[in-house]
Amino acid sequence: MKSEMIAKPRKRRKRKGTISGEKAKAWRLCSIYIRSRDCLATTGNVNFGLCCTCGVEKPFMKLDAGHFIAGRHNAVLFDERNIHIQCKTCNAFLEGNRLEYNRFMLKKYGQEVINDLERRDKEVIQFKVFELLDWQEYFRKKIEVMEKELGINLIPKDLMTRNNIKNQIHHLLHQR
Ligand SMILES: [Zn+2]
Repeated sequence: MKSEMIAKPRKRRKRKGTISGEKAKAWRLCSIYIRSRDCLATTGNVNFGLCCTCGVEKPFMKLDAGHFIAGRHNAVLFDERNIHIQCKTCNAFLEGNRLEYNRFMLKKYGQEVINDLERRDKEVIQFKVFELLDWQEYFRKKIEVMEKELGINLIPKDLMTRNNIKNQIHHLLHQR
């Protein structure tokens, strides 16, 4: 019995994903969806988009999916109304460019949606792995619809390399 316990598990790859790993993957898909959605909406071209808070044009890869209310709290982390493209200056260095973001939200959705997001932000939600898989599926489907319309692939083949997972977890932990 003892020697069996010491032996390495052979089916390690089939183990269920961790919450942080699956959350990072869901976030990455969410980010791809939001950036594609907003690039198309602001320039008509999925490769370029305008920052929602300063209006600068940047290529897809240099844009962040920036939260209006920081996604540290799970309840608003994947809320599409709470996430829009931002340049890195606004998202990271200006900590979301909060004043301009508020102006943008007010114009786009109105005060009621802002109030709703703020109310949701106070809810405490602990994700289960299956819920994160549902979010992945949700955003993957949305991306697939755009891919069909555009005739291109938006999800990179290396969506979740070890490095990507590390970066995404870092991103989720260090949001404003
Ligand atoms: Zn900006």
